[in-house]
Amino acid sequence: MNTPIYLDYAATTPVDPRVAERMMQYLTPDGVFGNPASRTHALGWQAESAVEGARRQLAQLINCDPREIVWTSGATEADNLALKGAAMANRDRGQHIITSKIEHKAVIDCCKWLEQQGFEITWLTPMADGRVSPQAVAEALREDTLLVSLMAVNNELGVINDIATIGAMLRERGVLFHVDGAQALGKIPLDLGEMPVDMMAFSGHKLYAPKGMGALYVRRSPEVKLEAQIHGGGHERGLRSGTLATHQIVGLGEACQILSHTLSEEQAFLQQLRDRFLGPVLAEPGVHLHGAGAPSVAGIANLGFEGVDGESLMLALRGLAVSSGSACASASLEPSFVLKGIGVSDVLAQGSLRFSFGRFTTREQVDQAAGQVVESLQHLRQRGKLRRSTV
Ligand SMILES: *Cc1c(COP(=O)(O)O)cnc(C)c1O
Repeated sequence: MNTPIYLDYAATTPVDPRVAERMMQYLTPDGVFGNPASRTHALGWQAESAVEGARRQLAQLINCDPREIVWTSGATEADNLALKGAAMANRDRGQHIITSKIEHKAVIDCCKWLEQQGFEITWLTPMADGRVSPQAVAEALREDTLLVSLMAVNNELGVINDIATIGAMLRERGVLFHVDGAQALGKIPLDLGEMPVDMMAFSGHKLYAPKGMGALYVRRSPEVKLEAQIHGGGHERGLRSGTLATHQIVGLGEACQILSHTLSEEQAFLQQLRDRFLGPVLAEPGVHLHGAGAPSVAGIANLGFEGVDGESLMLALRGLAVSSGSACASASLEPSFVLKGIGVSDVLAQGSLRFSFGRFTTREQVDQAAGQVVESLQHLRQRGKLRRSTV
């Protein structure tokens, strides 16, 4: 079978060969394989120095103090540490948490768990373009609101929330602000020196670093108190125990290093690819770009196809690796809860696909993909019409 054209970069990215090469130097007997916590020999010190180098690389990309970075196994764990950790450590400040209906499952499921622990959750409905309005957050705030959690960039839509405005309002009110930044890091500039955000979660495998690696930014001033969720050994200033995965960390650091001088150039390239893809596809009748009108990252386009069943379309597009909904939700044939959350009908949500482009996507691939989408659409509609006329 031919390898499909990969248009699912929002689900995961391949590891950049430069990142993989760097990681290899921290694995094998001739490499720096020591435990970064070993204080008694050079292999330990070298590993620790590599870990701290990577911490500086991430810190530089988001303009924060390296001491504000906690390494985790991914954004899911970072979201867990932020939400459960902050809720548990600051319970005396209130029991009310605000989030939205279209967050990543990592945030939604943490909030549901916290609900069982006695916290009260307000689930905001986003606007039709996929953004959560600062106004809606303001209206949901209460005296006992402890924490707000919203994503910077939605993983299914690519739409960018106004984190700066919402954060400024929350800072004034003394409410903690957690942001899932998994789809934002490496795609939009993030300056945590400026942004009034208290915690931010990141994932390596969305930015050409390996899976199973992530980080949580935790602000030092004003200081955010967190309760550790994983105990043992006291690594990461007691916030996340467990032997540090040197090769994974170095990989994430290298990926950040690459992005620190290529981010805007890469986004401009992806914007071109997206426009090139959308041109012919949107020219077809009954094709909707979900989240249109809102600012969005360049690499994601979520399209609804009227009168076409998503499953048949996926089948017709076997040559393309795309997704219906997010990777974790697409195992079920339920329409995407994100699309439903922004008011898209069940029928159109069912006939929707997410196309996402990345560093290794070529113009030829995009042209081929657009051609296949247009052809399949016309074919399926023709067939649908024929079938209707025979009944
Ligand atoms: C991918 C993703 C996650 C989960 O990250 P993992 O590193 O796979 O745990 C969380 N939030 C968003 C928005 C994501 O896109």
